[in-house]
Amino acid sequence: MSSTTMPYVIGNWKMNLDVELAMALAEATAEIANEAADEVGAGIAVPSLWIPLISSEYFETSLLIGAQDCSPHASGAFTGEISAPMLSPWCSFTMVGHSERRQHHGEGDTLVRAKLDAIIANDMAALLCVGENQIQRDEDQALEVVAEQVTTATEHLDSGQLRNLLVAYEPVWAIGTGNTASPDDAQAMAAHIRGLLSSIDPEAALEVPILYGGSVNAGNAADFFDREDIDGALVGGASLDASGFAAIVRAAREMGGANLG
Ligand code: PEP
Repeated sequence: MSSTTMPYVIGNWKMNLDVELAMALAEATAEIANEAADEVGAGIAVPSLWIPLISSEYFETSLLIGAQDCSPHASGAFTGEISAPMLSPWCSFTMVGHSERRQHHGEGDTLVRAKLDAIIANDMAALLCVGENQIQRDEDQALEVVAEQVTTATEHLDSGQLRNLLVAYEPVWAIGTGNTASPDDAQAMAAHIRGLLSSIDPEAALEVPILYGGSVNAGNAADFFDREDIDGALVGGASLDASGFAAIVRAAREMGGANLG
């Protein structure tokens, strides 16, 4: 069955851009988001330091502004961390479980779940990132690995909390490499993820945007958006260029109507 959500295109800026470039790109991206408003949810997950600056300027626009990570704790002796209550006044969503956090900071599923809970408890949407690495794909373990990631992070959620979730399927081997999953494989995984969420609440699961991420660009985005369970994209490198990002949002807009259930 098709999902019932509008499409989303979210840019992950990672640790890029100085303040001038960040503000200029935020302005251009807010224009793109305003043009697509009501048809596509367009957003950016930006470096923490730029969040209040960008949010002060663009919170009233259609641009969704988010953080790339947060602490599972509300406050305390956690040097270098930023908590969900600190982000909440400025962000409508926060990413959690990106593979670069899992890989470079040793974040496992239990920590991801605690962070996700903190995000949702603080009135933000949680953008949960999941995906298998190359070895796991080669050994046919992709479905199992993603099931474990999704289940551990979400099995305790109720229907209302599920409605504050987005999931990005991002095979690790496709991130920043120029290689993408095939649209068929991405669709199969998106359907698998939706099936797992359905065990919590089948109706709410249809409302969860499931995005594909991994080397999405203006040239290949439509191939993914065309698929039944893929409701948009999480975009890294291509989100740093306003015209490329605009083309991906345009593709989501064109496919949006066909993809809605
Ligand atoms: C990402 O950072 O989540 C990502 C998908 O990056 P890229 O689009 O550059 O592969």
